[in-house]
Amino acid sequence: MMTKKALINIDYTRDFVADDGALTCGKPGQQIVAEITHITRSFIANGDYVVFAIDTHTENDEYHPETKLFPPHNLKGTAGRHLYGELNALFQENREADNVYWMDKTRYSAFAGTDLELRLRARGITELHLVGVCTDICVLHTAVDAYNKGFTIVIHEKAVASFDQLGHEWALRHFKGSLGARID
Ligand code: ZN
Repeated sequence: MMTKKALINIDYTRDFVADDGALTCGKPGQQIVAEITHITRSFIANGDYVVFAIDTHTENDEYHPETKLFPPHNLKGTAGRHLYGELNALFQENREADNVYWMDKTRYSAFAGTDLELRLRARGITELHLVGVCTDICVLHTAVDAYNKGFTIVIHEKAVASFDQLGHEWALRHFKGSLGARID
C-alpha cells in the first residue's frame, strides 16, 4: 500500500515572520517563503492532506502559560494571524479544497488540544511532513508528539526557520538523531 502523507504547515503568520510582526523570526523566516509556498502548492495539487496549524490567543489570557513568556501575538481576529507573503494567497485560493484544513492551535504542538490526530488516523495518514516556524519551538514540539504517536517524520530543511540560529541547528540534529526524521 502506498504511504499516505500529510503536510503540517506551522505558524507561518505575519506575527511570526513579517518585519513588523509581534514575535517575529525576521529574515530567516522571510527567506523560506518561496520554498514553503512551493512545497505547500505541490501537496495541495497532489491531493495530499494539508493542515495549516496556526497559533491563536486572546489578549491577557491569565490562564495561558505563554502570557508570561511572550508579548501578545497571533491574537484572534487580527492581521497578525494571516499567513505571510505568497503563502497567504495560495491558502486563500485553496481554502475550500477538501484536502486543505485550517486548524487553530493554542500550544506549541499542533497535537495539543486539537483534533489533528483524529483527522490523520481517519485518513490513514502515517507520514508527516513539517514546514514553518520556529524550528526549535512549534515545529520541534509538533515533531516530538508525532514521534511519540508513531508517525514517520519528514522535515523540509529549507522550509523551516527560527530567530535563533543555534536553536535551529540543534533542532535539525534532534529531528534526525533522536526522532528518526528524514531531513529533505
Ligand atoms: Zn503563541
